[in-house]
Amino acid sequence: MSTKGLKEFLTDNLNELKGKGLYNTIDPLESANGPVITINGKKLINLSSNNYLGLATDTRLKEAAIKAIRTYGVGAGAVRTINGTFDIHLELEEKLADFKQTEAAIAYQSGFNCNMAAISAVMDQCDAILSDELNHASIIDGCRLSKATVIRYAHSDMEDLRVKAKQAISSGQYDKIMVITDGVFSMDGDIAKLPEIVKIADEMGLITYVDDAHGSGVLGNGAGTVKHFGLSDKIDFQIGTLSKAIGVVGGYVAGRRELIEWLKVRSRPFLFSTSLTPADVAGSIKAIELLTESTALNKKLWENADYLKAGLTKLGFNIGASETPITPCIIGEETKTQAFSTRLYEEGVYAKSIVFPTVPKGTGRVRNMPTAAHTKEMLDEALAIYEKVGKELGIT
Ligand code: PMP
Repeated sequence: MSTKGLKEFLTDNLNELKGKGLYNTIDPLESANGPVITINGKKLINLSSNNYLGLATDTRLKEAAIKAIRTYGVGAGAVRTINGTFDIHLELEEKLADFKQTEAAIAYQSGFNCNMAAISAVMDQCDAILSDELNHASIIDGCRLSKATVIRYAHSDMEDLRVKAKQAISSGQYDKIMVITDGVFSMDGDIAKLPEIVKIADEMGLITYVDDAHGSGVLGNGAGTVKHFGLSDKIDFQIGTLSKAIGVVGGYVAGRRELIEWLKVRSRPFLFSTSLTPADVAGSIKAIELLTESTALNKKLWENADYLKAGLTKLGFNIGASETPITPCIIGEETKTQAFSTRLYEEGVYAKSIVFPTVPKGTGRVRNMPTAAHTKEMLDEALAIYEKVGKELGIT
């Protein structure tokens, strides 16, 4: 493509996005991503972060990160397999394995990276992957990268999964078959039906893969969705992120020893991308220590989530199928959803609208993420604003 062709391609497509109202604008924060944030000089109650336990701004994590910077510097300086593995990377991986009750764990630079790395290191064109239709984008991309045949099953529909797994097996076309699901689905806050998935996988000999980005730190007293269901020995791949409840950045796979050993020799982001920074590693270690020592933050998160959910439901909002702190207010029509989010912003609440194509047409929503760091007063103030704006727009 000539440079002129590229320019046309970019302007045409950007204009099309803008014309359809699908162009993402970004509001830069002028503060930490805590329960109250500052944007454009305006203070807002923040219901949009994944900082579930408030650890992103926790003093104990900050101190650990600063100490690690003093000892090891700001950058790792190399990929893990050259000389970018520090003693603290190994300590983090041991702590993650204990946290997830598995034999071993491997850390990556992000949760997104982790799905790209892990799926493609194990699955190939001779294999099939059964993937929930609402799985996260990084799972979709990891599946594509692997070149395995991807068979989507209807969201949490166990009959559809069973039928499609049977078809895949009886076709005789595939060497390995894997079932992949999010532990907690990020748009609706519903929990995957792991006991049924494990039952089907056991019966049919499927590899099991759970991305618990939104379940870790949240379910199972903090240990995640797999622990919540008592299935730690039944899931081959437990994926997590260090970027949400853990409060830092990074991702990991926890599983049996030989799986982790394989990922250390075969997964490309581990081999070819510079390792997590010392500050990220030390902050994450501290977070896991805190979660292991006490469930107080997890309890506070649930207390706040239950309070907000009850308040929104009482006001007449539709919070859909949410079973976790992820609390959508489903508005429906796209422009109304966006107008609702804008009015919340004007009144002092930051809760982003999520519309088509991220969610199906007509199911636009404002997604609320209460955290352990919110006070009851903040949640009351947010609910009062929801009440006012909901009435004003004829939603409640
Ligand atoms: N998996 C799921 C289910 C997620 O929701 C996310 C984050 N949006 C990721 C993976 C990616 O994690 P990270 O932000 O650490 O890259």
